[in-house]
Amino acid sequence: MSKELFTTDIRGQMVLLGTGTSVGVPAIGCGCDVCRSNNPRNRRTRCSAILGLPGGNLLIDTSPDVRQQLLREQIGIVHAVLYTHEHADHVFGLDDLRIMQFYLGGPVPLYCEPPVEDRIRKSYDYAFAPAAGLHSGAVPQLAFRRIGLEPFDVLGARVTPIRLKHGKRFDVLGFRVGNVAYCTDANAIPPESMERLTGLDVLVLDALRPRGHATHFSLEEATEVAGVLGPRQTYFTHMSHELEHEATNAALPAHMALAYDGQRIELT
Ligand SMILES: [Zn+2]
Ligand SMILES: [Zn+2]
Ligand SMILES: [Zn+2]
Repeated sequence: MSKELFTTDIRGQMVLLGTGTSVGVPAIGCGCDVCRSNNPRNRRTRCSAILGLPGGNLLIDTSPDVRQQLLREQIGIVHAVLYTHEHADHVFGLDDLRIMQFYLGGPVPLYCEPPVEDRIRKSYDYAFAPAAGLHSGAVPQLAFRRIGLEPFDVLGARVTPIRLKHGKRFDVLGFRVGNVAYCTDANAIPPESMERLTGLDVLVLDALRPRGHATHFSLEEATEVAGVLGPRQTYFTHMSHELEHEATNAALPAHMALAYDGQRIELT
């Protein structure tokens, strides 16, 4: 057995690991045309992305599908995690990163706001007060790095947090690296955040479904936001089974499209 790390070099790229809404597509028990489609672009795991930065791989969120996502893309190492928010579909794959503490030789750094840290400390309490006598790989080793709205440096790149509204009373973060931004789980973008999203080459933006929703942009709302911001290209993510990949794309302007699992976007 080879001891060498088996991994793909993704430097200079953002890989969309998952583009599905919280239940994924197909949805369990659903027999609709999209859920039964053979087109791989209609199969959407839970929402996540990974950035190949100069100093390593920065994972955005730990979805419940993270193990299968990293295996599928043959990405063998995560150097740090950046969280958008603490909802279950963005957090509950975290234990599967336990293997990284061996590759990193120490804890996995988690960049997040205080509510995300609180959720992780509660849900993964066994990682923070491990029982005596456990072997070193028994529980995840995690190190929190608190972030706010100030830009910060991680793995050789500057990350600019973008405040987004995910329903009236819930705040999440989007992120901008260079001229690429990732903004999922949002139904409104405050004016000061819109200012941080000008001059983009690529915007990845939440678009749940055709109809409106209390905590996510509809496709129509998302295309309006993209029209105002004017990035060179917009890709929509966090999609439900109500958006069929090919038919929806055929109706969108050329510079907008539904994203898909495994899509690679150049970091500029
Ligand atoms: Zn979500
Ligand atoms: Zn369905
Ligand atoms: Zn959410």
